[in-house]
Amino acid sequence: MHDAIVIGAGVNGIYQLHRLREAGLDVVTLEAGTSVGGTWFWNRYPGARLDSEAYAYTYAFSKELIEEWDWVEEFADQPTLERYFNFVVDRLDLRRSIVFDARVVSCRWNESDAIWTVDIADGRQFRTKYLIPATGIMAVPYMPPWEGLDDFEGVKIHTADWPREGIDLTGKRVAVVGVGSTGIQIVQTIAPQVEHLTVLQRTPNWAVPLANYTFTPERVREVKDNYLTYYDATADSRSCFLWNARPVNTFDVAPDEREAVYSELYHRPGMSFYQNNFQDLLSDAEANAEAARFLASKIHQRVNDPETARKLTPMHPYATKRPPLETRYYEAYNQPNVDLISLPEEPIVRITKEGIQTTERVIPIDVLIVATGFDAITGSFLKLGIEGVGGQTLVEAWADGPRTFMGIFGHGFPNMLILGGPQGSNGNQPRCTTFVADWIVECIQYLRANGIERFDVDEEAQHEWVDYCNELVTSIPLLRDAENWQWGSNIPGKKRAYMLYIGSQPDFRVLLEKIADEGYPQLHRSSAPVEAAQ
Ligand code: NAP
Repeated sequence: MHDAIVIGAGVNGIYQLHRLREAGLDVVTLEAGTSVGGTWFWNRYPGARLDSEAYAYTYAFSKELIEEWDWVEEFADQPTLERYFNFVVDRLDLRRSIVFDARVVSCRWNESDAIWTVDIADGRQFRTKYLIPATGIMAVPYMPPWEGLDDFEGVKIHTADWPREGIDLTGKRVAVVGVGSTGIQIVQTIAPQVEHLTVLQRTPNWAVPLANYTFTPERVREVKDNYLTYYDATADSRSCFLWNARPVNTFDVAPDEREAVYSELYHRPGMSFYQNNFQDLLSDAEANAEAARFLASKIHQRVNDPETARKLTPMHPYATKRPPLETRYYEAYNQPNVDLISLPEEPIVRITKEGIQTTERVIPIDVLIVATGFDAITGSFLKLGIEGVGGQTLVEAWADGPRTFMGIFGHGFPNMLILGGPQGSNGNQPRCTTFVADWIVECIQYLRANGIERFDVDEEAQHEWVDYCNELVTSIPLLRDAENWQWGSNIPGKKRAYMLYIGSQPDFRVLLEKIADEGYPQLHRSSAPVEAAQ
């Protein structure tokens, strides 16, 4: 019997494990993979790379970790990140508290003794007082159910299941389906290497340059010396990125000045075009269209064939799908070995033995790369087989969309504290969730200090929080009407429901602090299990 079980050894789960252990709890982490890193363990496709600054994404709580690790690029690639998370886990001696190859299949709440029983796929069972799912918002790959998929005789692979040994794409005929952040990274990386690349695009995306660069030794030092300054900047910003919106509206500046701002943001490394744009970027459709017009002109400048440029130019407002960052992505379409197929104009009919059949042609391929994203945000939590009070499942409780209080608690699921799930910390994930992980430790310490064996969150408080999250998004028409994974609209049959809290992270932290200061009034508590006390 453990004090706590953390599910998942990704960037959030690793930190949570460390903090709970530091607090003296008997804690074990169950991890489905064979090593740590979560997203950065599974997503090892060619070109996988961060699009937030490495030093603004990774851990800032330990001087030793900062000093002993050298970031050598502004935006670290997957192999580097995987090494980093292994380094952290070894440096903090966390590996001995992690059970690998441990895919959780069920978590059942036992009212009689107020504990959770957790089963993993190989039949082993664990028991814990506190259950802390930290399985991440991008952990369940979505594979479209194309007819004939099983007939394909070549290699077919979802980007999130990329094998450790890699796939040699040299000289191969390859198709990539999907052009979100993942598809774009793959296309730009493999285009020079493969014999022929066909990109099948359902919706083009507004991508801007990543502008990655290699650090000089001076920059390596400067990053270490200023890690905490960068940390503070992320903590103070709305979504825990390094940037905030500029406090001026789009049409309050003269056209030439506006163009200069767009141009500067476009060329600056990272998320600036999204995060440091005019403050009305998402609240004013005209302002958004102005930014999109600038980006469309860039696509047409960079892509030689006007027809291809047209297909690559999105129709949806900028940033109503999470905007990807790219490195010579648009130039890939100028290569003679790269074709673009716009699926609304030429849909896939079926997959055949040799390749992809569309309404217009058969595309013979050796490798089919499926970059169609994830059952995002709620998907991984719903796969844990969580059963709360009276056998009610999380799947049932969230059938119409997630229902949480502050993204941490779910009514009817006592002694469960979710880290990094829906309706809570949102933005530059590790930075947003650091605070929540700390808060969870303090909450558990409070419960233990006060002899509280069982708690459940107040249903009305949860109801208000869910309403508040919905109000925040529906008050912004551009976001209210968007089709994206935040709304679940990328998964056929998934109930359309907004799954994130889009208020500012500093405001979110103020709310959490208030709850703690007031002694967690939203938590109904008992000093003995409910049945035993009766
Ligand atoms: P995604 O953004 O959901 O993109 C999936 C792509 O597949 C979209 O182009 C989508 O088209 C397409 N698609 C889905 N179902 C399809 C179908 N049945 N037929 C044809 N096309 C289909 O997924 P992702 O690119 O894996 O990225 C998910 C999130 O992970 C990102 O938004 C980002 O937050 C994160 N990420 C970050 C990085 C990074 O640089 N740090 C890299 C990768 C991912 P529609 O748009 O029409 O649905």
